[in-house]
Amino acid sequence: MFSRILIANRGEIALRIIRAAKELGIQTVCVYSTADREGPWLEHADETVCIGPGPARESYLRIDRIISAAELKNVDAIHPGYGFLAENAHFAEVCRDCQIEFIGPSPEAMALLGDKVSCKKMAKATRTPIFPGSDGAIEDDEEAVKIAKEIGYPVIVKASAGGGGRGMRVAHNEPALRAGLAAAKQEAQAAFGNGTVYIEKFLEAARHFEVQVIGDKHGNAVHLYERDCTSQRRHQKLIEEAPAAGVDPAKREAVLKSAVELIRAAKYSGVATVEFLMDRQQNFYMLEVNTRVQVEHPVTEMITGVDIVKEMIKVAAGEKLPFTQKDIKVQGHAIECRINAEDPDRNFMPQAGRIETFVAPGGPGVRLDSHARPGYRIPPDYDSMIGKLIVHAPTRAEAIARMRRALDEFRIGPMKTVIPLHRRLIDSREFVDADFDIHYVERMLKG
Ligand code: ADP
Repeated sequence: MFSRILIANRGEIALRIIRAAKELGIQTVCVYSTADREGPWLEHADETVCIGPGPARESYLRIDRIISAAELKNVDAIHPGYGFLAENAHFAEVCRDCQIEFIGPSPEAMALLGDKVSCKKMAKATRTPIFPGSDGAIEDDEEAVKIAKEIGYPVIVKASAGGGGRGMRVAHNEPALRAGLAAAKQEAQAAFGNGTVYIEKFLEAARHFEVQVIGDKHGNAVHLYERDCTSQRRHQKLIEEAPAAGVDPAKREAVLKSAVELIRAAKYSGVATVEFLMDRQQNFYMLEVNTRVQVEHPVTEMITGVDIVKEMIKVAAGEKLPFTQKDIKVQGHAIECRINAEDPDRNFMPQAGRIETFVAPGGPGVRLDSHARPGYRIPPDYDSMIGKLIVHAPTRAEAIARMRRALDEFRIGPMKTVIPLHRRLIDSREFVDADFDIHYVERMLKG
């Protein structure tokens, strides 16, 4: 096992990794930017190293500075968390060249599944359900027009290297498709240095269903069931839950199995999430594979009892998975609300500044993953998520009731947060009945 790891991240996920490392008897080195000098999580690290100023491209995205810190502090491994360098195959490769273990997949497996065109090819081979569309990259526009006619409009043009919703265009007819191809290629080239695009069928209404998988370096792979992340605003997840409500057991079983086959075929070690959209008839279509720990991993931990962050460290160190598929059982229901410091009444404007009031909820079945506390100054440099409130209860209805009372206990001020919005969402008929699609939050905000 590692004796010391470096955490190349900040905020709640840095704290989450420190907690896992401590329980495993591993020392932690945390890198930070000057904007995070007072980050409360740094107090829990064994050592800290400043790697530059606030803007991420001058600190948390600087591979050279992170590797220098790792060498200076003589660590065995680097945990990238999520965001920043977590899905950067070049970074994983640099770690390998420097003989530092990257806590995640090999650069090859990351590149294979991280590129949407190669991932879709692999999914086809392992019979993971995908959207009808082009089998690979679009070479010329006429080909795209022909495919769109076959699968029917609307279609979506997507960037192979895409992420964060960039390089996507929806088209309802041929002229829009031609315009969309040009625009998406240009945007993808500018954003990712790779203008490769492909097209697929566009679903107007769907639920977001994702499968948590984990593999080790000995060829073992299992799934830890699914999460439903249908509550989104502008493609940003707001509420996540596990398991997904009301899904046909046979269809669910098939998609869970197919996700495991996909990562097994990619010779994948570490944790991954295979994301799907599910239509009204409960047909599944793969969106993409995320090759890192997800923000919403706690709901899976609550229902399976598996500590995902500890397991990813252990498999990176070469350990075999300590369980097989039949050992993984679902217990109860878990819901997570992302607590963003944003003002829902002013177009979700991020709220920086000093937190004066911070009264955390507690009691049975309540978990708070947060780096915030009274006196903490939220820097304006990073995303506005200051924590995640997670509840666990025997049934979905009880979990909703528990979340309602936990949100009522939670007090943060003076800045605005999305807590009142969560309160409305979890009481909405759509959420309570799980009769929703990925646009319901936006419809509610407009209505
Ligand atoms: P990114 O990596 O940029 O986040 P994704 O492939 O995950 O891109 O897609 C982001 C979002 O775009 C999805 O969550 C979904 O809301 C929407 N989307 C993507 N592909 C489709 C599709 N074929 N049909 C309907 N919506 C889609």
